[in-house]
Amino acid sequence: MGPLFTCSIDDGHPSDLKTAEMLHKHGLSGTFYIPIRNCEGDAVLTEPQIRDLGRLFEIGSHTYDHRYLKKVDIWQAYHQINDGKRKLEDVLGAPVNGFCYPGGRYCPRDVELVKACGFTYARTTMNLCFGTGNKPYEMPTTIQFYPHDRAVYMRNFLGSGNWYNRIDGLLLAMQHENWIRRLYAMFDHACRNNGTFHLWGHSKQIDQLNAWHELDVFFKHVASRIASPRRLSNEQLAARAMWVPEPGIAHSI
Ligand SMILES: [Zn+2]
Repeated sequence: MGPLFTCSIDDGHPSDLKTAEMLHKHGLSGTFYIPIRNCEGDAVLTEPQIRDLGRLFEIGSHTYDHRYLKKVDIWQAYHQINDGKRKLEDVLGAPVNGFCYPGGRYCPRDVELVKACGFTYARTTMNLCFGTGNKPYEMPTTIQFYPHDRAVYMRNFLGSGNWYNRIDGLLLAMQHENWIRRLYAMFDHACRNNGTFHLWGHSKQIDQLNAWHELDVFFKHVASRIASPRRLSNEQLAARAMWVPEPGIAHSI
């Protein structure tokens, strides 16, 4: 028993290599969700860089072009989901089992497409959770590494549902104005309750915030509290979750 830790980094920005170096330095695990291109114009890791990253971390797909699936028709959604997976598998020479919805925007059709394309799990941007939820294709997170204000947490809480399992997280998020204090408070809550702490973020934002030192210190804190076998990739977390039908929650063993 004991708390679990996982980390998701989205968008495949070249500064992911710095995040990876930091995770590796502290012996932590996580998953990098990478699109092949970014239609918003951001740089994406090169193929050799993706292969290097894949030697140490799980690589998940984030569509082909980082398209918000809700905004495209079913054929485009299919190609984004399917082609992003196949291309990454070509680059890595290995299966890609995890998917993450760009912008956290998706509809039930997209969940079905993700299943049909052969992914085994998918991650959302639902936050404030200390478990894996009860849907393998809508796995939630705990908190984003970003200085959101309280209104963002309230909006995410109201808009994403699953309120019963998220109310503790919301109250903690509301208690803290300072985002770093909030981060530690959420992590300590997960530790006290033997829950799952799922951090997610964007390396480009960490760079813009100049928050590498804060991330380094936080990872050191995480490594001091989480036993090595309980530091997981998203895929490992999904694999050990016992998915149960509603209204229960999935417990990790
Ligand atoms: Zn994204």
